Amino acid sequence: MRKLVTFFTSLLVVALFLAPIGEARAASFSDVGTTHRAKEEINFLVDRGIVQGVSPTKFAPQRNVTRAEAAIIIGRALEVDGSPRATRFKDIENNSFASGYIEELVEKGVLGGYGDDTFRPSNQLTRGEMALMINRAFYEPTSSNAVAIQKLMNEGIAQGVKDGTFGEKLPLIRSDFSVFIARVLDDRFAIPKDQRFVKQKFVDVKEGPVLNMRSGPSADTALVTSIPNGSIVRLAIDTKDGATWVRVKAGDKVGYVHSGYLSDKKPTHVSTNPNSPLAKKLIVLDPGHGGSDPGAIGFGYAEKTATLAISNYAKKYFDQSPFQVAMTRTNDTFVSLANRVRFAHNRNADAFVSIHINSASSSSATGLESYYSASRAAGDIRASRALTTYMQHRMLEAWGLSNRGVKTAPFYVIRWTNMPSTLLEMGFISNKNDNYRIRTPKHQEQMGRAVYLGALDYYYHYEGYKNDVAPLYSKVGAKPSPRRH
Ligand SMILES: [Zn+2]
Repeated sequence: MRKLVTFFTSLLVVALFLAPIGEARAASFSDVGTTHRAKEEINFLVDRGIVQGVSPTKFAPQRNVTRAEAAIIIGRALEVDGSPRATRFKDIENNSFASGYIEELVEKGVLGGYGDDTFRPSNQLTRGEMALMINRAFYEPTSSNAVAIQKLMNEGIAQGVKDGTFGEKLPLIRSDFSVFIARVLDDRFAIPKDQRFVKQKFVDVKEGPVLNMRSGPSADTALVTSIPNGSIVRLAIDTKDGATWVRVKAGDKVGYVHSGYLSDKKPTHVSTNPNSPLAKKLIVLDPGHGGSDPGAIGFGYAEKTATLAISNYAKKYFDQSPFQVAMTRTNDTFVSLANRVRFAHNRNADAFVSIHINSASSSSATGLESYYSASRAAGDIRASRALTTYMQHRMLEAWGLSNRGVKTAPFYVIRWTNMPSTLLEMGFISNKNDNYRIRTPKHQEQMGRAVYLGALDYYYHYEGYKNDVAPLYSKVGAKPSPRRH
């Protein structure tokens, strides 16, 4: 049975490659139009009898390359004697069309077989295997994939694929293989030096989820694109060591980035998936009061100071995650309630968290409570209730004060925002015991962490991003809360 399969495989290979040389030019292939990106390279190779169509009118540019095809094409490019002969492989017939090329290239160390004396001629070739073969055939032989790939990039033979990797495990298609071989054989086809992006780096921004790519070597130039943290970029081949602004390629975009945000290793503080859907989620933190409005005051400490400090701590946590975060104020200024709502709407925020400190005329009033609006102008009340519930439980966990509950009230910022929103009252500034926590940096930090964890719980349970959120807990030594909505 295997003999029969091998026989038909051989017939197929013959059918693919035995079309008389020169009969068809790429221009006459109906599937390689005049604007096809590989047209020139395919013409070049067809003219030299190195590649042929799969029929007089078709080239099949998207079809995967098999190991037998690769042997024939590289063998012809090297002008080896390809006449059919006996090989060392039990799955290659002596008279099969590829046999001479396979045997010749194995002899030269360009190709190898498998441990069981097979060559597996119909197996598809990956881009990584192609890199090794081209290095062994035309450059320095190597058994290191990384070395082989770097060489092809440096020489302008091949580039990375869309995600910045080389796509080692991806199958190689006929049009790409044709392009690579044409570039090896003739410099005219090689990627111009100023378009070669070679060395791999990772985007590593501590302060946010993205790195801005600029049109020129300065932050004042136009924004080209924003590259997610953890993404691969490649440096232009002429990049000088120590340059501050460097020209890079990210995906199919080319521009300048600040080299201080690139590292050799994939950063560990981002989600393993740089395209995490969470990277599109914007959390707005709203530190209550500010400027001429101090909010409540107790024991000489103002609410506006605590809300900003706690928001800043929360922001630090979000900054270590894929989430985007923005604050309605970042210093001691007055921002009207209407402008706080407008701030969130203008940015199309996904969640709004307003941070406040309670006060009462009785100094014995103590504890934690949080609010959602049941009379919302717009937006989902259920989502707001869930967000509030998850926040409340993390607040209790952080400060251990009494639970005054999840409540409803039509406060302006939670009533008029159209995204899930919550207003948190973090203890009583008028109570001595609460006040101690409110003003102490260690406790402010714990409460900032609580806001972050509450948001994680909400996205984990309510919004259903379990897989994306799950790895974020362990990074801050936490676990998902029980489901509470
Ligand atoms: Zn307040």
